[in-house]
Amino acid sequence: MAFERSRNFFPFENKVWLSSPTMHGDEMTYMQEAYNSNWMTTAGSNINALEELIQDYTKSERAVALSSGTAALHLAIKLAGVETGDYVFCSDMTFSATVNPVTYEGGIPIFIDSEADTWNMDPKALEKAFELYPDVKVVVLVHLYGVPAKLDEIQEICEKHGAILIEDAAESLGATYKEKQTGTFGRYSIISFNGNKIITGSSGGALLTSDLHAANKTRKWSTQAREQAAWYQHEEIGYNYRMSNVIAGVVRGQMPYLEQHIAQKKAIYERYQEGLKDLPIQMNPFDEENSSPNYWLSCLTINPEAMTKQVRSDNDVLYTKEKGKTCPSEILDALNSINAEGRPIWKPMHLQPIFRLNPFVTARGDGRAQTNAYIVEETAEVGTDIFERGLCLPSDNKMTVEEQNRIIEVIRACFE
Ligand SMILES: *Cc1c(COP(=O)(O)O)cnc(C)c1O
Repeated sequence: MAFERSRNFFPFENKVWLSSPTMHGDEMTYMQEAYNSNWMTTAGSNINALEELIQDYTKSERAVALSSGTAALHLAIKLAGVETGDYVFCSDMTFSATVNPVTYEGGIPIFIDSEADTWNMDPKALEKAFELYPDVKVVVLVHLYGVPAKLDEIQEICEKHGAILIEDAAESLGATYKEKQTGTFGRYSIISFNGNKIITGSSGGALLTSDLHAANKTRKWSTQAREQAAWYQHEEIGYNYRMSNVIAGVVRGQMPYLEQHIAQKKAIYERYQEGLKDLPIQMNPFDEENSSPNYWLSCLTINPEAMTKQVRSDNDVLYTKEKGKTCPSEILDALNSINAEGRPIWKPMHLQPIFRLNPFVTARGDGRAQTNAYIVEETAEVGTDIFERGLCLPSDNKMTVEEQNRIIEVIRACFE
């Protein structure tokens, strides 16, 4: 029922993905090298070379290659000393992988609302959170969809309160804030090479830090925490979190193409911006003066006056259709009808059933306590509002201009 407005559009023969791996050939060379040399394990020249490539590119002093971004975050949480019962301030609107590792250590995420300028953690809400919970010692900050957060403000607040900043730069590899790479602001930062990220190893991640001791700990913990002894001696709990030398070969082959991928993603963002400019929408915003995103995903929000009614339950959605208006669900259905993949905005963590009892702080105070106020004052929860009105657009590197133009036409048709 959903896509009458796109009935005149032919579906793509080959699906246009949100963001799929883009390979170049060099990956095979390095994978083959691992195979030929029989370093089919979690050690080898690809891992060493990759860690250096990451350090050179990001200017991070140390990089430790791990099995995933989530594993890297888990070790970052451990390095920060989070223990059972500790509160940790976390970005609210993000992928659940940002916050799950806090709970692996028994920590309790307190969710911090987003701001409208970059869709990331609101420094005002963070400041408020420190008023409510002055003893918190760790902040986990995401750079959503490749857009750097308000790093100056966030860093200043963390310093003022003696809190450790952990940066989740899983989506923002290559993005810069004041010409410095995201992933180099936190005491511990992480990146990801998961299949849909800006470059990929099929999976994989890395922990970045300037702290030698922390880098050594990360290496040790990620390889089962073996002590320096000929036998298997253990003083700490370890993990099997090291990157495979085969996967490192894939990422090694991808690294030289990171800049090219960013340029392609930027062109995609700009074509959407141009093609949709007279519609009542906004592209996902960033601080044009201070930051340079990696444009991992192009997103948009529909202006409030152009929104039809859209009601989401836990697993379903209903929406109405009106002339001149639409909603994210209708656009997603329309994209799907032409074999193109979009995605809703990450559903904020404080709205997730699993985190229903966790505290949530907005710029105005304790978000949970003002649930009723939200109904009256629409903008009280910024993240919820972006979730309601926003979506991620097909942003695949390999999407052709013709394909993107058809996608733009389909989106435009939703506003007819
Ligand atoms: C992908 C992602 C992660 C997790 O990375 P994996 O390598 O998939 O474990 C963490 N945080 C964010 C924001 C992500 O998008």
